Amino acid sequence: MPSALPIPADALDWRECPHCGQFCRLGPRRPGMVAECPRCAEPLWRMRQVNISFPLACATAALPFYLFALVAPFLEIEAYGRFSLARLDTGPAQLLAQGWGLVAALVFAVTLLAPAAKLAILLLVLGGRHVLPPRLLKLLFRWYLPLSPWAMIDVYLLGFLVAYTRLTGMATVHLDTALYALIGYMLAMAAADGSLDIEALWRKLDERGNHPHQHTEAGPIGCDFCGLLNHAEEGEPCRRCHTPLRHRKENSIARAWALVLAAALLYIPANLYPFMVVTQLARTQGYTIMHGIVELAQNGLWPLAFLVFFASITIPLIKLVLMVYLLVLTQLGRTDFLIARARAYRFIDFIGRWSMIDIFMVSILVALLRFGRFANVQANLGAMCFAAVVVLTIFAVSAFDPRLMWDALEQPEQAEA
Ligand SMILES: [Zn+2]
Ligand SMILES: [Zn+2]
Repeated sequence: MPSALPIPADALDWRECPHCGQFCRLGPRRPGMVAECPRCAEPLWRMRQVNISFPLACATAALPFYLFALVAPFLEIEAYGRFSLARLDTGPAQLLAQGWGLVAALVFAVTLLAPAAKLAILLLVLGGRHVLPPRLLKLLFRWYLPLSPWAMIDVYLLGFLVAYTRLTGMATVHLDTALYALIGYMLAMAAADGSLDIEALWRKLDERGNHPHQHTEAGPIGCDFCGLLNHAEEGEPCRRCHTPLRHRKENSIARAWALVLAAALLYIPANLYPFMVVTQLARTQGYTIMHGIVELAQNGLWPLAFLVFFASITIPLIKLVLMVYLLVLTQLGRTDFLIARARAYRFIDFIGRWSMIDIFMVSILVALLRFGRFANVQANLGAMCFAAVVVLTIFAVSAFDPRLMWDALEQPEQAEA
């Protein structure tokens, strides 16, 4: 919302905090420091100590790892005189063959498409920042942050760990080379993420020509994608990244409620129906999420049992309860516990993707155990419902605009971060 103090029309260092709507000024760049919003403590600018060539080197190192993991198996098993192997693509292919196309599409998107897209954006923007057209660079780079949580190789590796422990009881298991490539990709991308100074890179891209400054009398409006503060009307494109500007996310409360309610309804069948059916030596047994956790615990694998319980039962429940709490308090216009509510929102935003562990485990098992009545794993309705719960809750969290919580206060003041 418009502020009382004048904000210069061409100021690159003003921000509208994306979490509370506070207008504030970023100080000068001090490598190693984090500029936080003075009101809600949201990090606005993580100033990294290394220059842009380091994340570029990390992304370049991640590329051969990723390409190798595309073509080579990461796990092989032998049981009843038969062999089978798992690559990144075998899980989605087998889920599709079993008739669970939506789950297959989700696993394919978050383990193959999103990691590839994230890597491609990094390589093109960092490597091509002096040669590619600035407009193309900015168009690519604005998707870097929104895409990042959907690239789930790190979560996939935890799913692999759970699948591996289940398989060791049923077959002879060999780790294969692509596993180390996946770990290499994850570490290289984590190093790139951790060393990339996003605001500094935006400013470098700005040096190659920005769009004309807006001279409208309209109030300041922050860009949700690149962070730049614009003087423009709602709906006009950001002068840096061309994304249409908006004061608040559209129909935020209604969309978040719809997604939360849909996820809450699906949470019930997700826990009641088996998420996989295991056939071993002509004996068939369905596993619900809870049944799978109990079996891990019975086998003495307590840390894994706890991990899966937390990821599959607790996290979705915490997300649903907290989202309802945040939505109700926001609709009532309450101004208490704002800092705690902001923290709660950041927590569920961060934690959501880790619920995918069980889905990844199923996608690995169905691809490996295909030995007919000797040993066979089929995905089931529970997996489909659970995948829907995870995706719907992630969408619900991103549909909710946390600035609406703070709008219940009076006009925000300005301050220096
Ligand atoms: Zn803030
Ligand atoms: Zn922008």
